[in-house]
Amino acid sequence: MAAACIAAGRPVESVRLLAVSKTWPATSVRAAIAAGQRAFGENYVQEAIDKAAELAGLDLEWHFIGPLQSNKTRLVAENFAWVHSVDRLKIAERLAAQRPPDMAPLQICLQVNVSGEASKSGCLPAEAASLAREVAALPGLKLRGLMAIPEASDNPSRQREPFAVLRRLRDSLDMGLDTLSMGMSHDLEAAIMEGSTLLRVGTAIFGQRNYTT
Ligand SMILES: *Cc1c(COP(=O)(O)O)cnc(C)c1O
Repeated sequence: MAAACIAAGRPVESVRLLAVSKTWPATSVRAAIAAGQRAFGENYVQEAIDKAAELAGLDLEWHFIGPLQSNKTRLVAENFAWVHSVDRLKIAERLAAQRPPDMAPLQICLQVNVSGEASKSGCLPAEAASLAREVAALPGLKLRGLMAIPEASDNPSRQREPFAVLRRLRDSLDMGLDTLSMGMSHDLEAAIMEGSTLLRVGTAIFGQRNYTT
C-alpha cells in the first residue's frame, strides 16, 4: 500500500486498510489485531456477529461488505459501524429506521455496478445520483461514498478503468463524499492509482479462503 501510494504521489495515510476476515476465525482476527489492525470486513451477518462477540471488549470497527437482504438489515444496523453494499433505497430506509438512536450514525457507501453485465450487485451508475441524494437525507445514516467490485482482470491498465469510472462518478455527485471503497488483494495498486481511500483486502492478509469447511 505504501509503495503504491508513493508511486501515485499520494500521502501513505490517505488510504485505509479494511481487513476482510470472512471465513476466518476469531483467532485469525486476533493475529491481525496484534499487528495493529482495527477495521474488519465481513460478508455473512451471523458469522460476523458470532466473531464480534468472541472479540467483545476490543476497540474494533466492523464493516458489512456483502450482499444485504431485507431480512438481515436489523442485525446489520445493530452490529456494524459501516455498510459498503447499499444499492437500493429500500435497504437504506430499513437501516435508517433500525439503527439504534444511541449508536453513532451508520456509515454508508453505495455499491455501484461499474462492470455492466458481469455483476448483479450494485446500482447502475445512472441511478447513483438520485440514490445518493435520497440516502443522504435519511436519519441514522451518514453517506460517506461509493464502493465497487469490478470484474477481475490481470491487466493493470484495464484494472484502472472501472476505478476511474467510480472516482469520476463520486466527483460528479459533488456531495463532499470522502470515501472510495475500492481495491482488493489482486488490484489494490490500480485502485490506489485511481484514488481509493479504503481497500478491502482478505486473501493478501489471511491467505486463501477455504469455503468447504
Ligand atoms: C471477499 C471480499 C473482499 C476481499 O477479497 P480478496 O480478494 O480476498 O482480497 C473484498 N471485498 C468484498 C466485497 C468481498 O466480498
